[in-house]
Amino acid sequence: MAATDDFIALREQLKQARQQGDLTNADALARDYLRLATQAKDPLQLGLAHFQQGRNAMERNNYQVAKPELEQAVALLQPLGQSKALADALDRLGMTYRYQSDYASALNYLYQAMQIYRDLEDLESIASGYNNIGTVLEKMGQFEEALHAHQQSLELSYQLKDSESIASTIFNLADLHRSLGDNDQALTYFLQALEMDIASGNKRNIAYSHNKLGFLYSGLKEFDKAHFHANQALALFQQIGAKRDTDWARTGLAKLAMEQGDYAGAQQLLDAVIKRALQHSYKSLLIDTYKMAAELSLRQDKVQAALAYIEPGIALARQTQERADEAQLQQMRVDAYIRQDAVREALNALQSQKQLEDEIFSNKKAATIAAIQAQTEYTRQQYQISLLQNEQILQQARLEQSRLTRNFWIFGLVAVFVLMISLYRRYLQSQQNRSLEQEVKARTIELEQKNVELQQAYQQLEVISLTDKLTGLHNRHFLESHIETELEQCRRRWQDWQSGKTTQPERAELAVFLIDLDHFKALNDSYGHQAGDEVLQHFSLKLQQVFRQSDYLVRWGGEEFVVIARSINRAEAAPLAQRLVETVQQELFPLSEAPPVAVSCSVGYACYPLPLGESPLHWEHLLKLADLCLYAAKYSGRNGWVGLEAIHTEAELAPGVITPGQLQLWHSKGQLQLQHSFAQLNWQS
Ligand code: GH3
Ligand code: MG
Ligand code: MG
Repeated sequence: MAATDDFIALREQLKQARQQGDLTNADALARDYLRLATQAKDPLQLGLAHFQQGRNAMERNNYQVAKPELEQAVALLQPLGQSKALADALDRLGMTYRYQSDYASALNYLYQAMQIYRDLEDLESIASGYNNIGTVLEKMGQFEEALHAHQQSLELSYQLKDSESIASTIFNLADLHRSLGDNDQALTYFLQALEMDIASGNKRNIAYSHNKLGFLYSGLKEFDKAHFHANQALALFQQIGAKRDTDWARTGLAKLAMEQGDYAGAQQLLDAVIKRALQHSYKSLLIDTYKMAAELSLRQDKVQAALAYIEPGIALARQTQERADEAQLQQMRVDAYIRQDAVREALNALQSQKQLEDEIFSNKKAATIAAIQAQTEYTRQQYQISLLQNEQILQQARLEQSRLTRNFWIFGLVAVFVLMISLYRRYLQSQQNRSLEQEVKARTIELEQKNVELQQAYQQLEVISLTDKLTGLHNRHFLESHIETELEQCRRRWQDWQSGKTTQPERAELAVFLIDLDHFKALNDSYGHQAGDEVLQHFSLKLQQVFRQSDYLVRWGGEEFVVIARSINRAEAAPLAQRLVETVQQELFPLSEAPPVAVSCSVGYACYPLPLGESPLHWEHLLKLADLCLYAAKYSGRNGWVGLEAIHTEAELAPGVITPGQLQLWHSKGQLQLQHSFAQLNWQS
């Protein structure tokens, strides 16, 4: 015994097989179902089994087979009470009548089904019920009611978010617009329906939408698109095995051929369709095909041939109550009669047409239609809004994406900015470094300048100061600032004695010693400048040993010294000079970084006052005389002394006069009172 679950599973498989257009499998499954249900002797399952058989037959447009199956299903299910299964069977039975163009019976069953759906509060089924009712009403030319039904369906489908149902409702709305001649709106709706059909994957519905689009594009002379859609529809219907719908697709190709001017091709297609439609009693298809064949004839001015299609078409439309089609056929008839100049017939046809159209499109109805159209458009737009909301979610995702991208860029920019700042900082730092360097340079220059100034200041200080730094003796500045006073005092005392004011003073004279170290350059060269300095320092000690505290010991410059021996008698000068020379060369001079060296010096001196005459002697002259004596000592062999005690001459001692030659002359004449340590004296080299 098959369990309930098995039946449920089978029904699910059947539904899928039909949706995929695999009707061979669907038939096999339906046979299994019937076999199992028969075995189970379950009236519900038996009813459902017949229902499945009916459904499969409908898919093939085999309504003659479908009808008894569905009637049997209803008969089996009805005693079981109000159920969805019963309602479905009634609904499908209604649709079978609809496809057989028995709209009154169709509506009867469809409303019965709808009543049950309402009781069961099965919203999905109510939506599709409205949809079905709408298509029937449309066929019957009751556009107002049709629109109302579609409107109800659309609202419910929208509430249920049942996209397949929405798609078929939109399809029906599109068809309604087409019937009303609004091809633009129809095109929009059909395209939307197709999109949704493709999304839901129902082949039959996809094919329907393609078929309608094929028709529309043909009318709009967009042949490429028409060709594409018409052929898509044909292929899909053939796949499903829906014979009526395949022929219906062929009428689409016929329409395309006609619009392209291929009248023979169109005629051939239509003839074949008419033949089969008559055979299978596809009334609605037959009416449509008659209409198209009539139009094809009229285009070729074959009025008689056109009427041959129009007359049976009108008859059939009346029978099936397809009033819109009837009205269109009537209009064709008017056209045909006029072309034949059959005025009476044309007038009759026109009256019939007007009556029909008045019924279909009364002013009142037109207003209501407009109102409902507005309503449906509103609902459709609501749906589109929800689609848009989905779009918005996508948009948000894209925004998020772009936000991330933007963030990335911002991050990148920040990074670049930071980099720039750090580079700028480094630049500033280097600038700072440079300015620091420059400042250091400036300061260095300033310091160097200060140093020079300082050195100058030192030099000035040295001038101002009276002491020689190296030896601690007096310097030249000291001597120059004191010598005149010294000489003045000495002369006054001497003059006072000479003039008899005083007795002969004890030691009232002075001697100017000019001392120069011998071969000092050689010493420097041999032992270095430092050694030379040490020698100079040591030499100053020797001077202090030889002379008195009260004498002026002066470093005159370089290795030249001046000593003013004060308050002496001039006779004492020679022994002083001798003692100095002896003392210097007596002992080796110690050096810190070299063995002790032998040092000698040469001395020249002049005593004061000089001459012994009246005229006073200037310091420069005195120094010059001492210097000439020093030179005489050097020329006479060094390490010795030459001293001038007095000059016996009346001549004025002018600057140009004091020369080695003059001294030599005076000496030879015996006019000089001269002392020296040499065996032979040389005044010149
Ligand atoms: P002469 O016997 O003819 O005097 O020969 P000299 O080499 O002593 O004479 P010269 O004038 O040719 O050289 C004197 C040298 O004394 C030149 C100089 O380098 C050096 N001198 C001058 N002042 C100083 C000083 O303060 N320290 C040192 N170490 N050397 C000095
Ligand atoms: Mg010298
Ligand atoms: Mg010298």
